[in-house]
Amino acid sequence: MQEDTLSHEIMSEENTATNFIQAIITEDVKEGKNGGKVHTRFPPEPNGYLHIGHAKSICLNFGSALRNHGICNLRFDDTNPSKEDVEYVDSIQEDVRWLGFDWEDRKFYASDYFEKLYQFAEQLIVKGKAFVCDLSPEEIRAYRGTLTEPGKNSPYRERSVEENLDLFRRMRAGEFPDGLRVLRAKIDMASPNLNMRDPVLYRIQHASHHRTGNQWPIYPMYDYAHPLSDALEGITHSICTLEFADHRPLYDWVIENVDYPGKETVRPRQYEFARLNLTYTVMSKRKLRLLVEERVVHGWDDPRMPTISGLRRRGYTPESIREFCEQIGVAKRDSTVALSFLESCIRSDLNLHAPRVMAVLRPLKVILTNYPAGQTEWMEAENNPEDPDSGSRKIPFTRELYIEQEDFMEEPPKKFFRLKPGGEIRLKHGYIIQCQEVIKNEAGEVVELHCTYDPESKTGGATAGRKVKGTSHWVSAEYAVPAEVRLYDTLFLSENPEEENEGKTFLDDLNPHSLEVLTECKVEPSLKEAQKGDRFQFLRQGYFAVDLDATPEKLVFNRIVSLKDTWAKQQKKN
Ligand code: ATP
Ligand code: MG
Repeated sequence: MQEDTLSHEIMSEENTATNFIQAIITEDVKEGKNGGKVHTRFPPEPNGYLHIGHAKSICLNFGSALRNHGICNLRFDDTNPSKEDVEYVDSIQEDVRWLGFDWEDRKFYASDYFEKLYQFAEQLIVKGKAFVCDLSPEEIRAYRGTLTEPGKNSPYRERSVEENLDLFRRMRAGEFPDGLRVLRAKIDMASPNLNMRDPVLYRIQHASHHRTGNQWPIYPMYDYAHPLSDALEGITHSICTLEFADHRPLYDWVIENVDYPGKETVRPRQYEFARLNLTYTVMSKRKLRLLVEERVVHGWDDPRMPTISGLRRRGYTPESIREFCEQIGVAKRDSTVALSFLESCIRSDLNLHAPRVMAVLRPLKVILTNYPAGQTEWMEAENNPEDPDSGSRKIPFTRELYIEQEDFMEEPPKKFFRLKPGGEIRLKHGYIIQCQEVIKNEAGEVVELHCTYDPESKTGGATAGRKVKGTSHWVSAEYAVPAEVRLYDTLFLSENPEEENEGKTFLDDLNPHSLEVLTECKVEPSLKEAQKGDRFQFLRQGYFAVDLDATPEKLVFNRIVSLKDTWAKQQKKN
């Protein structure tokens, strides 16, 4: 996606965007807050791959910047060395770019600021607003109090500035083992907000960091590093999810009490919005990582995963994901979006853009006994009736064909409009055929049909207009290209797999049929040249994309979605 197309797409919504974050931004710009500038950031922690929930945050942060003539930074929030890795840093950049957003030269890391953050901490100590505390983690918890009871002051709270500075410097010098001491803000142990009860700002952790190596034996906490990273980058609107609402007073306290460069011009403020939840989906990186580690899926980009890389591999377009994020809106209350709505977004996109082709997933051989052996007719087939510019192609018609097994029934129920003994169907773009004989193997399974065709029933023929009830897709046996097709269902059986009851976790809710691999598929010869990532509608079967596993010898397709729009159906019912 070209950048200017995207900014055009987003700018054109300028006057229609009504989410509450936009309302705040509009007001701030009008009042000339932060010099009238809008500067956002997307701050992933590089401890896993991004998921569709992050896409919502990316669209909101980059989108708000674009819409308001502002800019958006990409910032890796890498303050927790034990779980982070460059693999994740790389995948995050790939995903944000693929979604169509550009951070230009503004890629930052919280670890870029470790020295500055350390200096700010000394500043707080000197101001008497931070102290080194020797309580153990358990003691700190015990002293913190509860929602109904105030906490108790740490016995180390009144240490002198000199002693605090000396101890903090020795923490930095690596003199103490992990967990022996922490640096805490001196705020209020009786605050009704637990986050304000002298929160920890720094912890000792002798761990190697993927960027700073062994330079630092102490690491800043998120609640301290995040507001200051925002401040250092001149972020005006720090948009995050609702669970951080209780941390906002601490965010403001840090901004208020640290003198950072540029403080006269920019005061970052935090705004919270509801995170995205999807039915049949788990969305935390911890849980997604578990699925990968336990080999429930084949990797972070398994097409069943709600990761951006999984959706990309499955065949989702960036346009459809942006449209989804736009449509679900931005709210202040948590809710769960139906997975069928995400599916309906990709369907609407591909309905207009994906070429329609014929593929037989479970083939049944058909021999047209009155069709000349060795003859090939090239039938004209439109590529996409929804797209007038898509043109047409030729598909070969021959004596031996494949149709879908489910399109034939020997003893059909009443309303079965496909092929049955003695019955007729039209082959799409081809002739009407009639079933004359059913051939079975020793096990009694139908393996072949002998049919006749009506030579006058193709386009332009004398009986071309003759009506038969069913139309089936088909592929010439002689020209067919073999393919593997992977069909997906949800990874979980219940709508809310996050819900844990009676000791059962999301891992007890796995759908054993989330993947079905069909290896005997036959696709029309125009697909021989299909490239990885190309998307098609297989008539009557859904939308498919060529998988990464495809080779010149073997085509492999993922089903993105079926054609059945359960979302639209649900909407009609309501
Ligand atoms: P997870 O809980 O999945 O591990 P996280 O919040 O720890 O996610 P971060 O890397 O810290 O992951 O997230 C980066 C940004 O994306 C944050 O601003 C976070 O609020 C936002 N975000 C994460 N999950 C969602 C979601 N489900 N919906 C919307 N935004 C999200
Ligand atoms: Mg996080």
